[in-house]
Amino acid sequence: MRNRMKEKLLELIFPPRCAICGEVLALRERKEFFCEKCGGHIPFIPKETCPHCGGKTDTAGFCDFCRKPFAFETACAAFPYETVRQAVHLFKYEGGKQLGEGLGALMAEYLLQYHEELLVKTDLILSVPLHPKKEKRRGFNQTHILCEKIAEKTGLMFQKEGLCRKKNTVAQSTLHTPEERRQNLKDAFAATKDFTDKRILLVDDIFTTGTTCNECAKVLYRSGAREVHVFCLSAAGLQLEQKSI
Ligand SMILES: [Zn+2]
Ligand SMILES: [Zn+2]
Repeated sequence: MRNRMKEKLLELIFPPRCAICGEVLALRERKEFFCEKCGGHIPFIPKETCPHCGGKTDTAGFCDFCRKPFAFETACAAFPYETVRQAVHLFKYEGGKQLGEGLGALMAEYLLQYHEELLVKTDLILSVPLHPKKEKRRGFNQTHILCEKIAEKTGLMFQKEGLCRKKNTVAQSTLHTPEERRQNLKDAFAATKDFTDKRILLVDDIFTTGTTCNECAKVLYRSGAREVHVFCLSAAGLQLEQKSI
């Protein structure tokens, strides 16, 4: 009884919101984690679109051109950043765990719809780590919540430990040149486990320039990984509307 009241109170302070557009859900919509409007047609990045440049691809991932400069094998993202911007913001900074679970469930849905091949060949999921100080301040690592839900829905194994952030870097988005971004992340990550022969799905929330995922991938290859694939909730800078004309 007491728990039920606590739940009700929490619902008043943090009402359930749509995991796509971030709007508060109407009472009748609360069985789902998205509103009726968004759920009618989940606005995933379309299958033939590169989440990095918006160009055409054969699969649901990076085009050949964008894949080249990176250490990882492939990368894909479920949504254009603008589409989930409000939900991501609420999730990260106001601690909406329920929103995170909804977003994670949508990521799983995207994998199931578009990436059966990745599901088959992944040995484990890893998340891009936060610095311990930042995680403590925020109270949680938001990407862990996404990964836990992806694991639950797809049956893949999520390994919480094994990749850590040694350096408390500044946000990549505040830096302007590729060189600054590279320097900021130089030696920022380390593997604390052996990944010999493992095929890893590396998960992050936003793909911007790819430098962070790339640095993580390099570290994982150095500790023996066979394949690293990147999967992000969203890709920033993608102008889908313009590209689809
Ligand atoms: Zn919505
Ligand atoms: Zn591309």
